[in-house]
Amino acid sequence: MMAFGPIHSINDNMIGNKCMPEDTDCDFNDNQSKQFRWGPNHVGAKQLAQLYTNGKRYQEIICIIIASILILVDFLYLIYYFDASKWCSIVLAAFCGIISADFLSGFVHWMADTWGTVEMTIVGKAFIRPFREHHIDPTAITRHDFIETNGDNFMAIIPGLIYLFYFFRSNDYKIIYLNYNWICYLYLLAIFVAMTNQIHQLSHIYGPLPVWIICLQDMHIILPRKHHRIHHISPHETYFCITTGWLNFPLEKLHFWSTLEVIVEVMTGCKPRSDDLKWAQKGLHSNIDSNSLNIDEQKVIPSH
Ligand SMILES: [Zn+2]
Ligand SMILES: [Zn+2]
Repeated sequence: MMAFGPIHSINDNMIGNKCMPEDTDCDFNDNQSKQFRWGPNHVGAKQLAQLYTNGKRYQEIICIIIASILILVDFLYLIYYFDASKWCSIVLAAFCGIISADFLSGFVHWMADTWGTVEMTIVGKAFIRPFREHHIDPTAITRHDFIETNGDNFMAIIPGLIYLFYFFRSNDYKIIYLNYNWICYLYLLAIFVAMTNQIHQLSHIYGPLPVWIICLQDMHIILPRKHHRIHHISPHETYFCITTGWLNFPLEKLHFWSTLEVIVEVMTGCKPRSDDLKWAQKGLHSNIDSNSLNIDEQKVIPSH
């Protein structure tokens, strides 16, 4: 982690560029980035795309169906017990839900990027693979349909929604009324978690988008495009939050992720992002003399 250098080495002109480095009309001056072909033709990206199986697809479809039913049923319960006099605390619950979802998106993203490996049993191919693919072919997400984009996030919210359903079914009106703010918080947190990767996908689309989505991005109510580009500068060591991105700047100022990485590295001896780097370098030897590129030089390569 420390070997990669600070995020301040990012070229702001690169971040501000309206296209991705792998786009053919992209005008990057860095010689290595021209040699190092990112995107769908990257050797690692091709291998990772082939690991998306029918079984994984079925899992995503089933999770989306179950989560959607639970979202609807829990929403009907929330409406049934709704008390208009509590609107102020409901707004506060919504705000806390957004903040919590943003943090959770960052934490899960950080875990997968930094410590996960595609070789992990079951979890690797099913849930780490999309993170690896996304770094070496970041526009792949723009070609994913609703199911592939949102299946895993819908799966993640199912336990929380089942808990809420159980809570509504097993408690009387008085208990539910007393806990209504907490219930609203959990429900809205689940909704924002479910929306996270859709918002993330939108931050990668530079083609036509509905005006209202561009307004939400420009007002930084959802993850803005330029903001998310900071994460996509190799070695992908910061700006992990992808719901709203509100926590990215303060967490960076607090050295939150880098401090966590030092702690984990000292305790386990594991090197952060070693699997991510391994996949990024696949096919590298056929393009560049392997001795001409060391890890320190990697930090200047714009991966996306
Ligand atoms: Zn990432
Ligand atoms: Zn991204």
